[in-house]
Amino acid sequence: MLDILIIGGGPIGLACGLEAQKAGLSFVIIEKGCLVNSLYNYPYTMTFFSTSERLEIGGIPFVTTSNKPTRAEALEYYRRVALSNKLPVNLFEEVVEVLNIEDHYQVATTKATYKAKHIILSTGFYDIAVNLDVPGEDLPKVKHYYREPHYYALQKVIVVGASNSAIDVALETYRKGAEVTMVVRGSEVSSRVKYWVRPDIINRIEEGSIKAYFNSELVAIRETEADIRTPEGIITVPNDYVMAMTGYKPNFEFLKKLGINLSEDKFVPQYNPDTMETNKPGIYLAGVVCGGLDTHLWFIENSRVHADMIVADIIQKGLTRIRT
Ligand code: FAD
Repeated sequence: MLDILIIGGGPIGLACGLEAQKAGLSFVIIEKGCLVNSLYNYPYTMTFFSTSERLEIGGIPFVTTSNKPTRAEALEYYRRVALSNKLPVNLFEEVVEVLNIEDHYQVATTKATYKAKHIILSTGFYDIAVNLDVPGEDLPKVKHYYREPHYYALQKVIVVGASNSAIDVALETYRKGAEVTMVVRGSEVSSRVKYWVRPDIINRIEEGSIKAYFNSELVAIRETEADIRTPEGIITVPNDYVMAMTGYKPNFEFLKKLGINLSEDKFVPQYNPDTMETNKPGIYLAGVVCGGLDTHLWFIENSRVHADMIVADIIQKGLTRIRT
């Protein structure tokens, strides 16, 4: 029987593994994709907004030449951390069911069955895209994930959204020769956009290099065109690709299946903020999964501390049980 089974091998799952290792607890990390799967699937040229020391886990230095690390540097860092600390990570294995059996949890994956006294859910939010819910969304030209800009050269690209991901896509594809139209629900570019990028996109929109419709929504997508509802009425624009950068959300169905209560409005899971334990005793949340639909509130920066909190609570409860 394992002391802890960690679901998700992202930065925070690894941080939990490092803490469990330091505490001498037995554990395994189960990851459905490759190591730090979400980071692997980020845009190739992505640069973190955090400085490298704020992405460090387990107190292991993350050394970079510039202060903001790139995706490639982050992959290098987390891979080295996992390998040099010999973290037990089972890759390409998905957790499909967690059952509460008497005093432990039985975990079924696509490859095996495990028993563990505690579960840490560090499953993130990057696997499920928030849909547009408009006709034509299932066309192959509609993308929720973006890798690199060259593919879109000389193409008419609609970018939906105005957050960091949307702005990066708009600027990168524009600079590789795409004709970019942004469709933004609000009245301006989000104030959360990286402070060194925001003036760039505002200037490109003001000079007309990138067309932007504010207070607008994409309402229909067809093979060669799309309809946008603007304050002046519905307009139809020619279109080759739609980049729906409308965000991502945690797997709420999975959380519910585990018996974790979710709030009605934002689907925020119920947990004790001092320990990260959920309403299901022995099941903990770590990392960005705990934010519900408010995914912008949690980062590696402010959630890596969950690892210390959870392992401290597991040890504390174990000691209390021994004493009583
Ligand atoms: P993830 O890294 O998403 O890890 C969760 C893992 O769980 C995934 O690998 C997934 O494959 C796995 N998983 C899910 N379900 C299962 C299952 N059933 N069985 C097995 N495995 C499963 N944060 C910062 O601090 N600074 C930044 O600069 C920053 N930039 C960001 C840029 C982008 C484009 C995005 C999307 C996010 C950014 N974030 C940033 C936010 C945060 O860093 C990431 O979301 C980060 O990946 C969160 O780490 P995590 O370990 O909580 O979740």
